[in-house]
Amino acid sequence: MSAADPKTAALIVAAGRGQRFTGSLPKQYADLAGRPVLRHSLETFAYHPRVQDLRVVIHPDDLPLYRAASKGLEVGKHVAGGDSRQDSVRRGLESLAEDAPDLILIHDAARPLLAPEVIDNVLDALEIHSGAIPALPVVDTLKRGHDGLITDTAARQDLWRAQTPQGFHVTDILRAHAAARTSGEALTDDAAVAEAAGLGVALVPGNRENIKVTTQEDLETAELWLAGRAADRETRVGQGFDVHRFGPGSAVILCGVKIPHSAGLKGHSDADVALHAITDALLGGLGAGDIGSHFPPSDPRWRNADSTIFLRHAVELVQRSGGQIRHVDLTLICEGPKIGAHRDAMRARLGELLGLPQTRVSVKATTTERLGFTGRGEGIAAQAIATLSLPRADA
Ligand code: MG
Repeated sequence: MSAADPKTAALIVAAGRGQRFTGSLPKQYADLAGRPVLRHSLETFAYHPRVQDLRVVIHPDDLPLYRAASKGLEVGKHVAGGDSRQDSVRRGLESLAEDAPDLILIHDAARPLLAPEVIDNVLDALEIHSGAIPALPVVDTLKRGHDGLITDTAARQDLWRAQTPQGFHVTDILRAHAAARTSGEALTDDAAVAEAAGLGVALVPGNRENIKVTTQEDLETAELWLAGRAADRETRVGQGFDVHRFGPGSAVILCGVKIPHSAGLKGHSDADVALHAITDALLGGLGAGDIGSHFPPSDPRWRNADSTIFLRHAVELVQRSGGQIRHVDLTLICEGPKIGAHRDAMRARLGELLGLPQTRVSVKATTTERLGFTGRGEGIAAQAIATLSLPRADA
């Protein structure tokens, strides 16, 4: 995240008690392809590089179910829901106020098949509008009926089916929810709360698969779509390697973290050998050249450049190709500095840059037993492996 990027939080509303769902568990915890319904959208947000904070509103009775569904993911603290959906969202928003995000994405836990592109569509629209929601145009003719007989045909032009996540500038939607609470009006989605407050809310493309699971039949449909999605994807592994030579200095930068040392690293950029190796691993997985072809060392723009720029570019390329980074494993090879004390900070920074929970970021270090150039303390080498999930090239 550069200074100019807005800080974005996602709020997943999972406190509801579905009336039309007949399963033994609340629908947001029902099994969908081996994992709870809620888990699917939790992961989509947790792995999205433009979302920094993730919070879930739950029903207090569901705490054990929620703990199991969110295990291993980096999710901020959960919030207890209120009597209505609107009340739950307001509580969630108020709990986020202390972290002061700029933008908020409010999502229904019962929509497990949210695609990362839909999040991007909403966030892009928020650069211009107060609010934005994904929606699909109504294509069926709409009938009004009474006692099984048609009374009227409704005009379908200009009608849209609203989905989530619904995105807003935080200060605007907080104010709108406070106003709706005062008026006591019951509104069925957050866009309606925003509309009632006079905010401009844009319609952006939703996705056919982004259905709201309401019945057991919806769950079966979602399962079929998920199976189709998995068949259209492939796992790819990319590797990267880089070396930088020591020179005069008192610190090195590894994984974007400054580490005091008896020397610095020489290079055209900030010489962050770790980020260079990871950038090349991502580019390798995409088959998209190497760091030098994207950022030629001959270009004066990259002199002393912050290497997070290179990594962000590679992360964006993965995103644009419809891919997800699933795991990154880094090995630093040097006699010094000692990495152990800085490992957690490095993993945290990498997690931030890659949009990954720390359980999917590995930082290891080794020496070469005083053999070779790393053994003589002439420089640092780094190796990285990145695992990517990508749309199948031949699909
Ligand atoms: Mg390099």
